[in-house]
Amino acid sequence: MAIRFDRSWSDPDLDLYRDTVVRFIEEELAPGDEAARRDGHVGHAVWRRAGELGLLCADIPEDHGGGGGDFRHEAVVYEEMARRALTGMNTSVHAIVAHYILNHGTQAQKQKYLPRMARGELVGAIAMTEPGTGSDLQAIRTRAERTPGGGWRIDGSKTFISNGYLAGLVLVACKTDPAQRARGISILIVETAQAPGFRVGRMLAKMGLKAQDTSELFFDGVQVPAENLLGGEEGQGFRQLMSDLPYERLIIGVMALAAMEGAYEATLRYVREREVFGKPLAEQQNTRFKLAEIATQIAAGRAFIDQCVHRLMAGTLDTATASMAKLWGSETQGRVIDECLQLFGGYGFMDEYPISRMYTDARVQRIYGGTSEIMKEVIARAL
Ligand SMILES: Cc1cc2nc3c(=O)[nH]c(=O)nc-3n(C[C@H](O)[C@H](O)[C@H](O)COP(=O)(O)OP(=O)(O)OC[C@H]3O[C@@H](n4cnc5c(N)ncnc54)[C@H](O)[C@@H]3O)c2cc1C
Repeated sequence: MAIRFDRSWSDPDLDLYRDTVVRFIEEELAPGDEAARRDGHVGHAVWRRAGELGLLCADIPEDHGGGGGDFRHEAVVYEEMARRALTGMNTSVHAIVAHYILNHGTQAQKQKYLPRMARGELVGAIAMTEPGTGSDLQAIRTRAERTPGGGWRIDGSKTFISNGYLAGLVLVACKTDPAQRARGISILIVETAQAPGFRVGRMLAKMGLKAQDTSELFFDGVQVPAENLLGGEEGQGFRQLMSDLPYERLIIGVMALAAMEGAYEATLRYVREREVFGKPLAEQQNTRFKLAEIATQIAAGRAFIDQCVHRLMAGTLDTATASMAKLWGSETQGRVIDECLQLFGGYGFMDEYPISRMYTDARVQRIYGGTSEIMKEVIARAL
């Protein structure tokens, strides 16, 4: 019997949902991928289409316009995109933004933004990183000062912002009290269409994730009303960011494992077709051993990631364990895809083969969402 990597969290309803996701990806996202890779973004129409089909904010409650599902519904979307190396829509950052609003926003903020995010009308982005600081989030310099009318004025710049070009809603991590580190940070909600002084800078050229927009953002005296402070209480930004880390880090672990599965399946197909020295490449002992090792890593990873999925849904996934999922997933993804690519020979280096894209896309998984070194710090603190 062929090895299968079944998810312990799936069920027949989720299988049906997965079919809808796959249909959307194959019929609506994949055909535009080449153009998106050239343009550096997928455009708004495909986001709206995903919204119409109920594929955005799937784990946000229905009374806020979401799908009323749970983390597994989000996971299905990430998995099916990652296994096909289709990275144009950063639905995970969109979901993370929606969760900040759901978990920390005021009732008015939830009502105002979540239904539009679920419909794909507002693409979400989160702007923490700045040219001068990434890992050390507490050192950000983007400043938000109270205006005489009680609102906020934002000045500063952000970089490497996923969905930055298409975003209609940006959560901006700002210093509201520069004298303090963590306690001086607040998150302000910026609706980009109504924010004079807001400007998208360069759409950044990258070695991977070519179809996904990653941009610089500039805030020159951007004024937002008092009600745009996330949760309504100043100085809560760092706490808000930290409390959602298990969700964010598990997403990267889920995507990493799905990318490994996609690479493994593509490689299996390739080595069965490719002939070397008069027989299929699949019959060389090295090939068989490499794929046996990879299948074993995926099977072991599946057990761990699935356990994290169950714990996240039960509310018991701690940040250190989620950081292990991100660390293990992203590091193993890099190694596994490198070994898969080797089995493609020169074809693995050619852009027309998805394994080539998987290789370059994998690299950043060890950097964004907290680097591998930061993951080790977090895990080490919990030892
Ligand atoms: C494609 C892409 C998309 C991104 N999307 C977003 C986004 O949507 N929003 C956002 O806010 N940011 C985003 N980022 C930024 C990303 O989160 C940061 O790049 C990352 O956190 C690292 O920060 P840095 O680049 O400033 O590196 P630095 O913090 O300067 O780190 C440089 C090196 O030093 C190491 N290092 C740092 N601190 C320590 C330490 N204490 N101990 C040991 N080693 C350490 C790091 O691990 C790394 O190897 C994105 C980045 C990329 C590349």
